[in-house]
Amino acid sequence: MEQRIKGSTGLLALIGSPVGHSGSPAMYNFSFRYHNLDYAYMAFDIKEDQVPQALDAIRLFKMRGFNVTMPCKNAVAKYVDELSPAARIIGACNTVVNEDGKLIGHMTDGSGFVRNLREHGVEVKDQRIVVLGAGGAATAIQVECALEGAKSISIFNGNDPFLERAKGTAEKLKQEVPECEVKVTCFDDQDALKADIANADILINATSVGMKPNEDGTLITDTSVFRPDLVVADTVYNPLETRMMREAKEAGCEKVIGGEGMLLWQGAVAYKLYTGLDMPTDEYQAYKKEQGL
Ligand code: NAD
Repeated sequence: MEQRIKGSTGLLALIGSPVGHSGSPAMYNFSFRYHNLDYAYMAFDIKEDQVPQALDAIRLFKMRGFNVTMPCKNAVAKYVDELSPAARIIGACNTVVNEDGKLIGHMTDGSGFVRNLREHGVEVKDQRIVVLGAGGAATAIQVECALEGAKSISIFNGNDPFLERAKGTAEKLKQEVPECEVKVTCFDDQDALKADIANADILINATSVGMKPNEDGTLITDTSVFRPDLVVADTVYNPLETRMMREAKEAGCEKVIGGEGMLLWQGAVAYKLYTGLDMPTDEYQAYKKEQGL
């Protein structure tokens, strides 16, 4: 590393809190080294109220860009100079690129998810999609799928504060992407869930249900909704295969896609925005395996 850092080295970073556990520095620094790019990537613990100061520093240090994690995603969107269409609709960003002093905010969670589906041979254009959840990941996916031409998006959420957020997303999409039909239903209406899945091409779990340490959780308790041509995707990546995914496979679903690829691709989409290059994802996966990471 010390041989790579020079007087000319440009800086990128992750900001948010906590960031100590993040895999981003290892992934980006591996990729910069692989492409022989004169950049280095660090992680800085930044609280929400420190975002304006952090952005001043980023401008001052002429950093190439930065990733944003909780709890700073909404605050950063307020202080950057420009937002991508998805980031503007969502009101949050997780990737910011410094284009000659202008900070441009993007949201790559949704585009990473869509890219992961594409890698598995699934396009969202003209598809009918059921999304379980209305939190950060779910909203990013709903907005990106609408922007990418999904025919309809049916959002299901429990009776918690996220249900209101889902209604807000549906309103915004009605204005911004009127050709995509969006509706919101409470999970309590299990008949509606069953009917919408029967009409859907893709079912996505974008809630934290099924995530460690509650691996036994699933929102699809009636597994008769699974059919071979229904694409089933999860955002959860720990465990790599959730109960919902396992049961979908057992029921004969031919395309069952986990959340690990979304994680990888949202980073790769950001990398492309920073460098214009394709992240060496296969090489990084091989390196991780080799190092036991
Ligand atoms: P969030 O807190 O913003 O949203 C949580 C969502 O889960 C809400 O819709 C909430 O209603 C729902 N939920 C939580 N507990 C529930 C329960 N018991 N029953 C029904 N619904 C419940 O969280 P988030 O950041 O959107 O993360 C959601 C999931 O997406 C997590 O599992 C996270 O690991 C995953 N995620 C994956 C990636 C990736 O790259 N693969 C990226 C971001 C998030």
